[in-house]
Amino acid sequence: MSKGRCDRRSSMPVTELSERASAALCDTYARVPLNLVRGEGAWVISDRGDRLLDCVSGIGVNVLGHGHPAVLDALTNQAKDLIHASNLYLTEPQVLLAERLVAGAFPSRVFFANSGAEVNEAAIKVARKWGRLHKGGAHVIVTLTEAFHGRTLGSLAATGSAKYSRFFQPLPLGFRQVPRGDLGALEAALDDEVAAVMLEPIQGESGVFPISDTDLVAIREMCDRHCCLLAVDEIQSGMGRTGRLWAHQWAGIVPDVMTVAKGLAGGMAIGAMLVGPRADVFEPGDHGSTFGGSPLACAVGVAVLETIQREGLIENANRIGEQLRAGILELGSSGLPILGVRGRGLMLGVALRRPISRAAAAACLEAGLLVNSIGQRTLRMLPPLILSAGEADLAIERLGAGLATSVYPGPSRGPEALQVGGAE
Ligand code: PLP
Repeated sequence: MSKGRCDRRSSMPVTELSERASAALCDTYARVPLNLVRGEGAWVISDRGDRLLDCVSGIGVNVLGHGHPAVLDALTNQAKDLIHASNLYLTEPQVLLAERLVAGAFPSRVFFANSGAEVNEAAIKVARKWGRLHKGGAHVIVTLTEAFHGRTLGSLAATGSAKYSRFFQPLPLGFRQVPRGDLGALEAALDDEVAAVMLEPIQGESGVFPISDTDLVAIREMCDRHCCLLAVDEIQSGMGRTGRLWAHQWAGIVPDVMTVAKGLAGGMAIGAMLVGPRADVFEPGDHGSTFGGSPLACAVGVAVLETIQREGLIENANRIGEQLRAGILELGSSGLPILGVRGRGLMLGVALRRPISRAAAAACLEAGLLVNSIGQRTLRMLPPLILSAGEADLAIERLGAGLATSVYPGPSRGPEALQVGGAE
């Protein structure tokens, strides 16, 4: 990749854009004042021409990076043929994507929607219908503390955190939460009312906290013993990010329901729910989505899954993930305030010794690296699966520079510090 600054595509100064965004957009995000205009591989480029190494990937979405030819080809070819047709008719890309998803997962069938929260809503409805049909009206969904399953009312109830839901009561009833890591509490919660346990194999939004493989095996066994479904939310941990296509595959378990979104169509909005034979309870009229499973999103999804396989990107996630982990731990041993690294593959949480994550993320940005802060003590890294060894080295170097600045702040470096070159 070329070094230095690139062509400008936007002429609006970031201060003006920020002001206009405040006037025009609802205040749902505390946006970083950075105007991104283009992406190339693992890099994003700002309106000022600054090249930033993207270890956020649109929150784990751009699994093939930016502008991958496979995504662009699928997008343009399918857009010329047919963008949308509704689920009143058959379209080939939808069936091809469902077949491909199932081939890489477990015997199941697929429902398509457009986002993570939407497919978790579908999973909640599946669990309730299954409980009504097969467990005397059981309807409770058990989730784990610090979960994140989305922001619609049902998925918020599953998320279970007052941080996200305090202004939005009453939430739907029928959710029970138990402490993550407390198998005894989980087992005690699995009574006759419980239709399903829903969990993320690695909790992403709360700070990258993995559920251990042995716990996942025990939870699967518990769900069987107490006759309830196991729904895994792979919305963030799936699509090869952890070094397996689906993170739960590390534990060798088979869920009844799996939800997928984020990286599935490499940047196009999509969500999918896979239901195994036990949980395959939907009938016409039970659920639906006007946009879900559009030929456009599905054609890109097929291209993304094909590319992950063809380019060996799951192995790359493993290899580069290990390189990042080792490099970050080395930064910790060199005196920077790093306590450890959580997660697997390219889903990493850098645990900090001090509550400086916001300042550290801002300093990393100045050093030319996008990472995101979660809580006060975690930096999350979700780079694209195409990250090269050279780029990983650069990410480590820039993380070290950012952390050093946030711990030992020197004179303000000003916006020119954003003018950083890319990797070759
Ligand atoms: N589930 C998990 C594990 C997530 O990480 C997210 C989003 O971050 C969601 C669900 C919600 O997905 P969406 O924002 O697409 O609705």
